[in-house]
Amino acid sequence: MEKFDVAICGYGPVGATLSLLLAKYNYKVLIIEKNQGPCKTARAINTDGEQLRIFDQFNLAEKVIANSNQIEKVHFSNKDLEPIQTIIASIEDTEMGWPNQVLFYQPELESFLREKIQSSENIEVKESTELVDFKNTSDGVDVVINEKNQNTKLKSKLLFGCDGASSFIRKKLDINLEDLGYNQKWLVCDAHLTKDIGLKNELVQVCNPSRPGTFLHGRRGHLRFEFRVMPDDDEETIKSESFIWELLSPWINKDNALLERAAIYTFHACIAERWNEDNIFIAGDAAHQMPPFMGAGMGTGIRDVSNLAWKVDLFFNNKCSKEIFKTYQNERYLHAKWTVAQTKSIGEMIEGFCAAEEGKEYTPEGPSYEAKFPHIPEGVYGDTSDMITGCPIPQPILNRERKLIKLDRIIASKFSIISNKALPKLSPKAELIFKRLSIHFERITSNDDKESRLKNIFDKYDFVVVRPDLYVYGGCELENISNVIESLEDTFFLKL
Ligand SMILES: Cc1cc2nc3c(=O)[nH]c(=O)nc-3n(C[C@H](O)[C@H](O)[C@H](O)COP(=O)(O)OP(=O)(O)OC[C@H]3O[C@@H](n4cnc5c(N)ncnc54)[C@H](O)[C@@H]3O)c2cc1C
Repeated sequence: MEKFDVAICGYGPVGATLSLLLAKYNYKVLIIEKNQGPCKTARAINTDGEQLRIFDQFNLAEKVIANSNQIEKVHFSNKDLEPIQTIIASIEDTEMGWPNQVLFYQPELESFLREKIQSSENIEVKESTELVDFKNTSDGVDVVINEKNQNTKLKSKLLFGCDGASSFIRKKLDINLEDLGYNQKWLVCDAHLTKDIGLKNELVQVCNPSRPGTFLHGRRGHLRFEFRVMPDDDEETIKSESFIWELLSPWINKDNALLERAAIYTFHACIAERWNEDNIFIAGDAAHQMPPFMGAGMGTGIRDVSNLAWKVDLFFNNKCSKEIFKTYQNERYLHAKWTVAQTKSIGEMIEGFCAAEEGKEYTPEGPSYEAKFPHIPEGVYGDTSDMITGCPIPQPILNRERKLIKLDRIIASKFSIISNKALPKLSPKAELIFKRLSIHFERITSNDDKESRLKNIFDKYDFVVVRPDLYVYGGCELENISNVIESLEDTFFLKL
């Protein structure tokens, strides 16, 4: 029977990213995918600086940016496309060290991920192969796959369900999806410009009460349109080409663009109540779904697997007990739920502005696209209200041997301590943990970080301990650094 360290069900962007993060640690990874070739439909279109840091761990961030568009403005507009509210989207690198709103073309992104996977000796991909059964055992998971109508058994230490919204793994584990109260049908259209017609470089949420819609200007003339399916609509009629061209007419027509596809999606807002059962995990759309208004569905899945990969490595290296996997849902669930809720609230803003167009009273509450992702609620030391602890560490540019280098190139995938001071002598136990986890110490000098991205941190703390997924574990004064390091033992169930 074939044996793997990790089996991943689903070769979408989340499963693909997980495989690359794990292959980096030299584990034997199997991807099981029932389809053949990358999904041809462009669903996800937006990624952010935090995800680019994850892609950068396998040298893909620059390629994603080179094949993207960065929009300059986000509007909520009236039906005539006149802005009601505008948010300026910076196209500069942010404190994450990368731009924060990068529009890509999903089939292309998936092909980039697949090129990386094909060149990895540690990843085996079985396409046209369906996961049909699995069972937790004392030493891993028994997996049954079906290829060309033939069932084969194999063994894996862990199984990851990155198998999308209708996840077979989630259903077989009888995991309930909590409905967060958003179920709407939207018509999603992708088109491509054939001529430059000076279309504005922007995202518009069109608050048209008779049909709310979204327009996004993607990369190399790719255009995304989304229109709400209204209660009186006949679905066949609105999917017809003539109806669609009429909907697109404020922006494009047949003389300057090609229609790639149009499909009706039901957008849900939901989250799985359990994310893990013994050696089996779910991540990505299998664990949560949200409407696309914030462009964060895939990103939430990418964050899930970045949270998991280094824990798998600690566990396989016998540096922690299996209990570390309890931290996965504890850290990710509320963060993902916030993202679903924030996405929903953008949908509600569109509805609110539509109501205002009809003369009803509406004042938007709270931020929309400028809302900052929250901290993770656990897996940290100290006070998360500082918006440093439990958040990704900003990425400064360092000057090493007269070369400029991004912080992640030095610290990603390792526990690290970052400081502008020298590391003091540690307590014996902290020293033991420092060595056991091969913690990297990086001293920031006055030659580094000319953009002052770490200023907020050093205004408050002498040292910050950073997790391998680049989230800040905790900050402290010089005299407390041994305590913070010692606390890693309980937080991550370390075996010393
Ligand atoms: C219109 C639209 C716009 C969106 N815009 C954005 C955006 O801008 N930004 C963003 O971050 N997200 C966006 N999203 C969400 C994003 O597309 C999804 O979150 C993302 O594709 C989910 O990735 P995944 O890898 O979890 O699942 P999927 O991409 O669905 O992949 C799951 C894979 O598992 C395979 N599979 C399932 N069951 C089995 C089985 N039993 N055996 C073998 N294989 C199996 C499937 O064939 C599939 O290939 C959007 C979604 C839509 C619909």
